[in-house]
Amino acid sequence: MPARRSATRKKTTAKAKKWVYLFVDGKAEGDAKMRALLGGKGAGIAEMTNVGMPVPPGFTITTAACNAYFASGKKLPPGLWDQVEKALGRVETSTGKKLGDTQNPLLVSVRSGAAMSMPGMMDTVLNLGLNDETRAALEKLTKNPRFAWDAYRRFISLFGRIVLGIRGASTTDPEQKGPFEHALEKKKAATGAKTDADLKPDALRKLVDEYKAIVRQETKKDFPTDVNEQLRLAIEAVFDSWFGKRAVDYRNAFKIDHTLGTAVNVQSMVFGNMGDDSGTGVAFTRDPNTGAKELYGEYLVNAQGEDVVAGVRTPSKIAQMKQEMPKVYAQFEKIAQRLEKHYRDVQDMEFTIERAKLYMLQTRSAKRTARAAVKIAIDMNREKLINKDEALQRVDPMHVEQLLLPRFDEAEVEKARKAGRFLAKGLNASPGAATGRAVFDADRAVELKGSKQLVVLVRPETSPDDFHGMIAATGILTARGGSTSHAAVVARGLGLPCVAGVSALDIDLHKREMRVGDKVVREGDAISIDGTTGEVFLGELPTIQPNFREEKELIELLTWADQRRTLGVWVNADTPEECRLARELGAEGVGLARTEHMFRQADRLPIVQDMIMADTVEGRKKALAKLLPFQQGDFFEMYKAMDGLSVVIRLIDPPLHEFLREYADVDVDIAVMRATGKNGAELERKEKIERRLQQLHEDNPMLGLRGCRLLLVYPEILEMQIRAILGAAIDASEQGIKAKPEIMMPLVGVMGELDRLQEQVLAVAAAVFKERGKKVPYKFGTMIEIPRACLIADEIATKAEFFSFGTNDLTQTILGISRDDAQKSFLTKYVEQKIIPADPFQVLDRDGVGAMMRIAIERGRKTRPGLKIGICGEHGGDPSSIAFCHEAGLTYVSPSTYRVPVARLAAAQAAIAGAGEKDR
Ligand code: PEP
Ligand code: MG
Repeated sequence: MPARRSATRKKTTAKAKKWVYLFVDGKAEGDAKMRALLGGKGAGIAEMTNVGMPVPPGFTITTAACNAYFASGKKLPPGLWDQVEKALGRVETSTGKKLGDTQNPLLVSVRSGAAMSMPGMMDTVLNLGLNDETRAALEKLTKNPRFAWDAYRRFISLFGRIVLGIRGASTTDPEQKGPFEHALEKKKAATGAKTDADLKPDALRKLVDEYKAIVRQETKKDFPTDVNEQLRLAIEAVFDSWFGKRAVDYRNAFKIDHTLGTAVNVQSMVFGNMGDDSGTGVAFTRDPNTGAKELYGEYLVNAQGEDVVAGVRTPSKIAQMKQEMPKVYAQFEKIAQRLEKHYRDVQDMEFTIERAKLYMLQTRSAKRTARAAVKIAIDMNREKLINKDEALQRVDPMHVEQLLLPRFDEAEVEKARKAGRFLAKGLNASPGAATGRAVFDADRAVELKGSKQLVVLVRPETSPDDFHGMIAATGILTARGGSTSHAAVVARGLGLPCVAGVSALDIDLHKREMRVGDKVVREGDAISIDGTTGEVFLGELPTIQPNFREEKELIELLTWADQRRTLGVWVNADTPEECRLARELGAEGVGLARTEHMFRQADRLPIVQDMIMADTVEGRKKALAKLLPFQQGDFFEMYKAMDGLSVVIRLIDPPLHEFLREYADVDVDIAVMRATGKNGAELERKEKIERRLQQLHEDNPMLGLRGCRLLLVYPEILEMQIRAILGAAIDASEQGIKAKPEIMMPLVGVMGELDRLQEQVLAVAAAVFKERGKKVPYKFGTMIEIPRACLIADEIATKAEFFSFGTNDLTQTILGISRDDAQKSFLTKYVEQKIIPADPFQVLDRDGVGAMMRIAIERGRKTRPGLKIGICGEHGGDPSSIAFCHEAGLTYVSPSTYRVPVARLAAAQAAIAGAGEKDR
């Protein structure tokens, strides 16, 4: 039926896709839920309009339009422009102004806005709609020639750089200016103006002519005076900025999908630079550093928004607005409260005051420090704004780790001060302490990080182009900018300490040095910055661990997490001290004690080496007998620390050559001794070591003689370790300590191994119990680190009373990727180029390793229902992997000590998300 088909087609063409969403006259077509389509900014503006905030009218072009634009080879999709014109008409009616009108011109901003916040990464054009005629009208309307000329020159340079692609100032070399900056500097010098604001109308007028000439010279065309053409080009340029280098780098770093696209917001301009009754600012409904419930932020009188964010002028605190513009402040305070109540979260708001009238430009959930996140979550629950589940979801688990990060030792800080090492004080822009070598540009920071050095990135101010250097640094220091400057916002997001706006710093980027008075810091010199106090010191400062017990709010939040989670949180710990700390942090057992770590301690290593060098079983046994009391003592102390909780002890795992590392160059020593005629016992000893090293040499040691294979080849090692484990348990029980040892075998792949190992353990246990005349309970289990072990998990469970996934090795063996070498050779590239979504040694590979784990869990529990299964690879401390462990039904995760609180929160979040899934 062809007629029908064509009728359908007609219908689809007639109903063109909706690309444009209006927000005008207190009503918006979109709302907060439409983030994916309208971007964060667009959805926020729509919601604010609907809530009745004073929002300048405009419209949002969707992210779908951006994707359609790229899909068609950078062409605006059909119907888009018609919809833009229609929407513009509505905005014109609402404002009573008209784009390009020579009497009452409308000016608009054109801004990007993706679904995920990407601060400063994409482009914005302001004051669009200006040409010679509209500028003149603006002057007439405002009776402010300076403002009109200033807006015009700003527009030409912004449009020139962003839309027409004319080079801007270099962010790495201040001497290398773009043509617009060059002309501006020259004009200031020629007229004696200190700042941009000192330029007189006449100078600005001349500057406009010069800017136009620059456009003509650089693009071989005149600056576009047709306002519709300006708008179309700007929309396209904002789309294009989605694939700009900065934006792509940022998305790679934060693992944001490149296919999301950006929305474009076209909004009528309001002017904060219309005199002293105007201004612009950024404010938070609560302090994003401490979480304190008070308006926090800053503003600038007689300025445009970019002046605040760029950090070129240092703004005033928002509290000052109370004195300077009391009425506006009161209105703003009310709006801030309303927004926070409406969104039930701390808001980060941008506002402009045009001739004493307040406009809200943007609101979004505020980025916050770890400390603030925890305090705000707790406070908002107390204020009955959010329930406990929401409070738990408001804190990023990795934030919890940050709270437990080291800080400077007060006593050392005092010493440094007395020694004259205090350098300067700035704004405490992002908390935490960092020590490292000063570097003055982002590329150098990356280079030094590559050679494993800690660096502090020092810049006059940062821009999105510095991003790669910021992620390579341990801390950021800037001479300019406030607490909402780029450096501060990005550092807080990255969890890096940042001291900003240290005006005493005199940075010379050419010489790669900075001065404060007569003190000079050159590239490579050590400095220390304290993002909590804003202080900067010369040299390195030792750090101390924070005191978990003092983190009252965090402790409360984690108690809520414990009530919510079903997954256990144990810990990987090798020493009694670690056990004690982990228990304080909430660990419910030791999921992995790596016994070989105890072998590496200084008083034991020589004995271990003797054991390895021994030629006979007797020789090895003699050395092992010396090790036994050490190991038994260690286990006793660990049981004592964990009294009543399980301690999973894994028998020796690494290849033996790892204990002989200090002899790596023994062949050279031998050659030298021989050449210099040094014979005798020492030469013989070294020759013997060399022979042993050659015997132990394997091309693939991680797939070689290690794990349970070692125990089967050298059963005397197993005997010593079982004697120590059970002997210590008996010692403990004699002192009233409840020891719960669990013996764990590494790297098991076939049943023959487990059969033999179990027989031997049983035999040694029987002997120990007989000798001591006492029995203690213990468990026998295995790590699951080999794919084959996953597949035969049903058989393994006939012998093993528990499993623990060693996902470091399991990832290595399933992916066939070396856990030791791959990062430096190709893995980082794989992640950067998105060949794989994330480093599988950090974030569990659900499709491969995860699928194998599910097989093992299912088969293991078929044989032994309720089988206790844990994970003790690095993934046990990674929030997204923890979520998988929850879904897969693991009994517990076992992370390293400082990740224990992280895991408690992540496990609760997984439980909440799982409950949500079920509800749906
Ligand atoms: C593992 O392989 O995941 C594990 C915990 O053991 P190790 O890292 O000691 O090999
Ligand atoms: Mg392992």
